[in-house]
Amino acid sequence: MKEPLLLDGREVSKSIKGQLKGTIDSLTKEGIVPKLVTILVGDNPSSHTYVQMKANACSKIGMESERIFLPTETTTEELLQTIRQLNEDETVHGILLQHPVPSHIDERQAFDTIALEKDVDGVTSHGFGSTAFQLNAYPCCTPAAIMEMIDFYNIDVEGKHAVVIGRSPILGKPVSMMLLNRNATVTISHSRTENLEQMVSQADIVVAAVGKPKFVKGEWLKEGAVVLDAGYNKGNIGDCDYETCYNRASAITPVPGGVGPVTIATLLRNTVLAAQQKAMMREVSHT
Ligand code: NAP
Repeated sequence: MKEPLLLDGREVSKSIKGQLKGTIDSLTKEGIVPKLVTILVGDNPSSHTYVQMKANACSKIGMESERIFLPTETTTEELLQTIRQLNEDETVHGILLQHPVPSHIDERQAFDTIALEKDVDGVTSHGFGSTAFQLNAYPCCTPAAIMEMIDFYNIDVEGKHAVVIGRSPILGKPVSMMLLNRNATVTISHSRTENLEQMVSQADIVVAAVGKPKFVKGEWLKEGAVVLDAGYNKGNIGDCDYETCYNRASAITPVPGGVGPVTIATLLRNTVLAAQQKAMMREVSHT
């Protein structure tokens, strides 16, 4: 059996960050340090780790970051107020509201309050629509990371059958649109899908975005399928059963070290692009 190609997210992330360094340096010389603000509501320990990782990534590459911690009892209106203030703050280029927020908060309304030009996590309805229509918006980070891996490793998508497992607004749906825009034939599946295993067995490309550890089994896969595992469950376990999938796939993302690091690199890139856009607008207003 031929070993599958390992889609190494750390390599892809290194390449993206390498490309960003020069832009960050020149923006900084102009007095604009790209700045990301993350908002965390409540005390979900995984979310704490994620925002910490994002802050570390910013500081390592010479960007600024700020973390805003709000208590679990925060109301939707209080959260919206915080977001509106950040929208107005000239020094902030990107705003990320860490998902999930406590259930009493209207998360959709909160996402949609983020100004489009600062929506570096690509979570607004407007951003989603623009991405789906291939218009100008910052793409949602994890779906964009998956596409980045596809491009980095020259995986052929056109005309291929991609089965996406999951339809969340931040992952399954946007990655399905991105694959469709690249001329893949996309099947989107979810918790009510019947005959999922059979569907997966017909896929050239499988994107797992389920949130269930080791959910996709190697036996489900067509020999030679490409496996892109966006899952990140407790204990650093993906949504695919790596060992069994490894034996059938032609290419596979590991967990950890797959989609995760590229997601962070994509977030940094979106924030740098937002800062660059701001710099360009400043130049135009001075001429
Ligand atoms: P989510 O909002 O919980 O969505 C999960 C999706 O899976 C839903 O659409 C759900 O269907 C579907 N699903 C659940 N059980 C299923 C089943 N038995 N068969 C088929 N579909 C099923 O999760 P998410 O936010 O999209 O995240 C998905 C995974 O990606 C998680 O492991 C998460 O940790 C990971 N993630 C990773 C990153 C990263 O940076 N690497 C970023 C974000 C998320 P319904 O719609 O019918 O409920």
